Amino acid sequence: MQRTFVAIKPDAVQRGLIGEIMQRFEKKGFKIIGLKIIQLDRKTAEKHYEEHIGKPFFEGLVKFITSGPIVAMVLEGINAVEVVRKFMGATNPANADHGTIRADFAHTMERNIVHGSDSYENAEREIAIFFDEKELIPGWTRDLEGRFIQLN
Ligand code: UDP
Ligand code: MG
Repeated sequence: MQRTFVAIKPDAVQRGLIGEIMQRFEKKGFKIIGLKIIQLDRKTAEKHYEEHIGKPFFEGLVKFITSGPIVAMVLEGINAVEVVRKFMGATNPANADHGTIRADFAHTMERNIVHGSDSYENAEREIAIFFDEKELIPGWTRDLEGRFIQLN
């Protein structure tokens, strides 16, 4: 089992896509083990996106991600970091595979609907920015999972 950090970005929240995006992750079989709606301040946004500080798109990115509420989630599943990244699609929705969240709901990189951690280390780092460990409920089981439970 692995956990990863996912955020539904302000554009998706504004467009009323929270439920649809969460449902996709649920249907894929991930377990939501942490969940909150929050509006980021600049300091937290900079911490979250620290690898991009100084890049040409950074200011726009911070302005966007702090512009309205986001939904922050911790998802748990087998190989969750990699599977979530594939399921979300490429950073630029124009290049995202058909059927991915970004391909289906977005068409520009600056408004690409969702965030997902790109490595195990970043997942742990990002989870710690958004959640206290006591806010997470790891390892609960879903009755309808069948095969998934036995793969533990
Ligand atoms: N981004 C952007 N312009 C760029 C590159 C990235 O606006 O040229 C935004 C985009 O919303 C992306 C985020 O910055 O999701 C973080 O970039 P990263 O390369 O980490 O992509 P991600 O991990 O989100 O796929
Ligand atoms: Mg990234």
